[in-house]
Amino acid sequence: MSDTLPPCPNCSSEYTYQMDALLVCPECGHEWNAVSESEETAEAVIKDAVGNILQDGDTVSITKTMKVKGAQSALKAGTKVRNIRLVQGTGDHDIAAKVDGFGQMELKSSIVKKI
Ligand SMILES: [Zn+2]
Repeated sequence: MSDTLPPCPNCSSEYTYQMDALLVCPECGHEWNAVSESEETAEAVIKDAVGNILQDGDTVSITKTMKVKGAQSALKAGTKVRNIRLVQGTGDHDIAAKVDGFGQMELKSSIVKKI
């Protein structure tokens, strides 16, 4: 948390102060939520193998053929995976998706590329 509070969005006063989760303007009495945009953008960003930012619902392709535990065949490079979901998976798995022929599974963002 920085010492610099944002100015009042109502009257641009710089004398705002914080009260619990609210910011308060002493000049016009405006109160608003202290959760700033900078805190939201500080959330972990998940990127694919080449640095594209991934989002829920993206379609990606697998960049590296890999074995899948319990599956008959390997997950091949170039396999398309639709409608990914960003998750806090086990280990460094950060994507969940349904993969054709494999079903629901977790993937690492480092081995996918956004299409
Ligand atoms: Zn104000």
